[in-house]
Amino acid sequence: MVVLGIDIGSAQIRAGMVDESGAILASRTIQTPADLDSFLPSLHDAIRWLLEATAVPAGVGVGCKGIINPDSTQIETLPGNLHFLEGLRLVDLVGLPLEVPVFADNAARVALAAEMVWGAARGLQNVVMLTLGTGVGGAVVVGGHLLRGHTGVAGHLGHITVEPDGAICSCGNQGCLETVFSARAIEGEAWSAVHRGCTSSLTRLFRDQPQLATCRTVFQAATEGDDLARSIVGKSIHKLAAALAGLLHVFDPETVIVGGQVADAGADLLTPLREEVWARSRGLLGRDVPILEQQVADKSGIVGAAGLVMAPRD
Ligand SMILES: [Zn+2]
Repeated sequence: MVVLGIDIGSAQIRAGMVDESGAILASRTIQTPADLDSFLPSLHDAIRWLLEATAVPAGVGVGCKGIINPDSTQIETLPGNLHFLEGLRLVDLVGLPLEVPVFADNAARVALAAEMVWGAARGLQNVVMLTLGTGVGGAVVVGGHLLRGHTGVAGHLGHITVEPDGAICSCGNQGCLETVFSARAIEGEAWSAVHRGCTSSLTRLFRDQPQLATCRTVFQAATEGDDLARSIVGKSIHKLAAALAGLLHVFDPETVIVGGQVADAGADLLTPLREEVWARSRGLLGRDVPILEQQVADKSGIVGAAGLVMAPRD
């Protein structure tokens, strides 16, 4: 059996045929077109090429940013350069014969679906996942199923409030987790400190172009003992840990999975995070909930999208 996985991103669209073991048999990447007139032929060309290279898929999984209605596959909200897709149904955009089922969801739920099929959430009934990238995505499995909520918004864990009077978030709320723990938030802190001329290896390296300091550079400087970087990273992890302890109290999961580019920091993130989450949650939970790295390593999003077809559902 092969399954078609499609990841629709703001820069690129990646499509690939995936087998039952999660291996990509063939894939195509196209630059994300600027309007619907060029979007459809580009996507259809890629799909046609994949069908010729492999076989008709048993199903299609599509991961897309924004808010997707998983029942109709309609794209409800999609800010940014792909806004021309708002209101359209992914099942229509894919354009395959009706007998091939199409499943669609947002990128974080897709990542967790892949973990349910091939990764750290296999066989588990209750899981919390955070994708720590330029923003913070989230997804939750409750009773063996992905939580979607009344209107499909459930699981947007990046938008829980951690600072009631904090910075304005892209969602319109103030002080969301995403405003204090995301690659953008950490980079923003570093850039303003460099701009203010704070004493730090980051200021020495990036004085003329603070915007070249990436989240990874900040974590690296913290590991090397730079006081400014340690303060930025420490403060962010402290807030993430507070939010995560709250999530453990809400969902009582068997495990927590963290993915995304910030999670590439590995032990520099996970060790202090585990310590503080344990300190904050042991009173009520009484057990140390494992906080694991994402196991499905495919960064293309193709395998995750394919996982959506194979994940357990109601
Ligand atoms: Zn928000």
